Amino acid sequence: MSVITRFAPSPTGYIHIGNIRTALFSWLYARKNKGKFLLRIEDTDLSRFKHIYVENIFFILKHLGLNWDEDVFFQSHRLNLYIKIINFMLNNNMAYKCYCTYERLNHVRNLNIKRKNNYFYDKFCRNKNFNYINKSYVIRFKNPSKGYVSFCDIVYKEIKVLNTELDDFIILRSNGLPTYNFCSVVDDNNMGVTHIIRGDDHLSNTIKQINIFNCLNYKIPVYVHLPMILNSDKKKLSKRDNLFHVKNYLDQGIVPEAILNYVVRLGWSSGNREIFSLNDMKYLFNLFKINKSPCIINYNKLIWINKYYVSNLKYEKLFNYLKYFFKIKNVDINNISNISEIISFFSQRLSNLKDIVENCMLFDNDRVLYEDSFLLKYKLFNYVNVLHYFIKKFSKIIYWDLLNINKVIYSSLIKFTYLETKNIYMILRLFLFGKKVFFNLNIIIFLLKKDNVLFRLKLIKKKLNNYKYY
Ligand code: GLU
Repeated sequence: MSVITRFAPSPTGYIHIGNIRTALFSWLYARKNKGKFLLRIEDTDLSRFKHIYVENIFFILKHLGLNWDEDVFFQSHRLNLYIKIINFMLNNNMAYKCYCTYERLNHVRNLNIKRKNNYFYDKFCRNKNFNYINKSYVIRFKNPSKGYVSFCDIVYKEIKVLNTELDDFIILRSNGLPTYNFCSVVDDNNMGVTHIIRGDDHLSNTIKQINIFNCLNYKIPVYVHLPMILNSDKKKLSKRDNLFHVKNYLDQGIVPEAILNYVVRLGWSSGNREIFSLNDMKYLFNLFKINKSPCIINYNKLIWINKYYVSNLKYEKLFNYLKYFFKIKNVDINNISNISEIISFFSQRLSNLKDIVENCMLFDNDRVLYEDSFLLKYKLFNYVNVLHYFIKKFSKIIYWDLLNINKVIYSSLIKFTYLETKNIYMILRLFLFGKKVFFNLNIIIFLLKKDNVLFRLKLIKKKLNNYKYY
């Protein structure tokens, strides 16, 4: 039997790190077994549905390389199938119409709270076969009243619950839309899903769903419930907690490889190894190595992994990822002649794409402005002689390399004995970049290249010439 897994997000929020772990584990298991990975959009909860969340699901999966097989399944396009099965269940005593009003249900609930019972529907309509016209109703599943439900989860092992502890839950809402627990079973069966991999917050749903699987005589899939992911305060992640949205990680300059690598370690391990390419994961991934203890998000670890990928990715790939950030920052990379050399330099030193782009922007001549307030703040007009000195010396360099650049800087220290090394560097930084630069200035000057260095020094010279203070 070939493996079929699925990712079944509800488009009610942006995809977060927990969702993407479910998608990744399902994708890995399908790919490893040469099976299928299907995508199902669970869009029957209209009150929280937003189209932008559907787009976010597609974008994130594609961007991370988690490609799915077949067309996307939209639950909202499958209503006829659900209604057909619900009618079958009604006709075969597997479900019933419940006409209980909100007030009645509230009353039952309050009584149960007083008696310290868990809230259960009291099954008032269960065997009545009411059939009112023009009265609103829901359809409830006739949960077995005896025996127990049990299943063996790959991570959680044996789970067994008494049916008396379960409710006759709603399968069709009064607005005519079926509920998650019902649609999920119908679809998993209809799509031929063999392995359901999802967060352990669904364990209680699985129990209910198995009763529907059994009642409809469907084959029960293998279940794999993944351990909970907690934030650094040890609280459960929520779709509304935007810190953990995958989109935010990408916007912060984390590369897809790092996100996948970070996520695969949330509950799964292979020895002490930390770095896994997607291919390594496919090769090593094993459902039996999933641990059930909760995992805590560790942002520093993600940054560490990202730094590894940023410095090891092939240049073309890295450049491709950077393009998006150049675009956001409105950087015309054609203005920077040796962009590849500059990117390679920063990729070995910085941990995210955003910082690389910020630093590449130092090399865009169009961005050096030297506002008057800046000239005043740093009193650069006091250093016009130093400026002239550098213009003269740098223009004499024939072979633009670190040795010759060092020599010029060193000679300026001898010439301007009243200045210390740190002053010379600060002045040069301000002349060339108009701000502090956090990397070895000699290397940055080397990367800026002679023409641009002279262009910038002359530009500031012109500015200072107009300045009446010197
Ligand atoms: N739509 C559910 C969710 O987003 C997932 C359901 C499932 O995997 O069965 O949590």
